Amino acid sequence: MSSTLYIHLGKILNNLNAVKNKVGEEVTCMAVVKDEAYGHGILPVAEFLKDKVDWFCTAKLDEAVSLRENGIENEILVFEIPPVGREQEYKSYNITASISDLSVFERLIPDTKAHLHFDTGMFRLGMLPDQVSEASQKMANHSLNYTGIYTHFANSDVKDHPRVKEQLSTFRSIRAEFPDALMTHTANSGAIFYYGEEDLYYDAVRPGVCLYGYAPGEDEIPELEPVLEWKSNLVQVKKILKGEMVGYGSRWTASEDGWIGVVPVGYADGIFRGLTNGFQVELNGTLADEVGTISMDYFMVFVKGQKPDIGDEVVILRNKDLSADLWAKKMGTIPYEITTVLSPKIKRVYLDQ
Ligand SMILES: *Cc1c(COP(=O)(O)O)cnc(C)c1O
Repeated sequence: MSSTLYIHLGKILNNLNAVKNKVGEEVTCMAVVKDEAYGHGILPVAEFLKDKVDWFCTAKLDEAVSLRENGIENEILVFEIPPVGREQEYKSYNITASISDLSVFERLIPDTKAHLHFDTGMFRLGMLPDQVSEASQKMANHSLNYTGIYTHFANSDVKDHPRVKEQLSTFRSIRAEFPDALMTHTANSGAIFYYGEEDLYYDAVRPGVCLYGYAPGEDEIPELEPVLEWKSNLVQVKKILKGEMVGYGSRWTASEDGWIGVVPVGYADGIFRGLTNGFQVELNGTLADEVGTISMDYFMVFVKGQKPDIGDEVVILRNKDLSADLWAKKMGTIPYEITTVLSPKIKRVYLDQ
């Protein structure tokens, strides 16, 4: 075993409580566990959360079916457009479909639970505002079990973004055209934490990345704490002299004598090669620089002074100096991508259950 991901489930609970404190107890939490719970592992995360939230949201029908087949009985909303030919599964497994396109009304099996999804300005999934009357007509003609209505923000990861207010006001006018009883939801993590003043929580919120401990945007959210900790151990230690060069392409040169520790983790595990010479790990209680090009299965660290030993523990990701947020900044991406691409082959250990 070359590395292990420790998933601190108790921290998911703290993060969920931060959401609940923000939105209030009367607002329903729909925990977004798509894409293996952002790389943390959908089944253990759902198992842990099942008696703490009412709803789960997944990207794909497959994920929802797998939750059902593993005994999860919470309500589940699937974001994707129902795959053609698999409509019966929504009905049989009691899974809520998203109606993001007018063509979906006639495909779903009668009495299937469904949430209407309107696109209020993101131009990804969802029916457009000028399709409201057609949607209402289809609703009247197709006897599905309509239980909700929602939209999704394109800019809620940035505070005070005018587009959020525009989308919200578009959604308000759409919402007015449909029955009051539909459960209404708009807010992802960004809307939950950055737009609390906007009266956009409605009946339910859809927290995703914040549950795993990351702020959705640049503005820090001190209550959140990363859930994931990634550790490995040195497999080789060697002396390096000033002037010697490390790794493919010799992209790092030792400016003084020291030690190179070899860590058996590489871009095949999910450390972007673009992070080369760009992050630190914790080794024996202090920070050490990653040096030289990250290879498929290995990266190297440089240590001054005291020689480290084979087997010494290396913390690759955790929080603060070892945070996925830092990696994301370096890579011009967001922590979502960092955790989602962690290879499924890495052993995951679930703690505080
Ligand atoms: C992914 C997703 C969410 C959760 O977003 P976060 O930014 O991770 O909170 C909510 N709603 C929809 C429709 C999504 O696709």
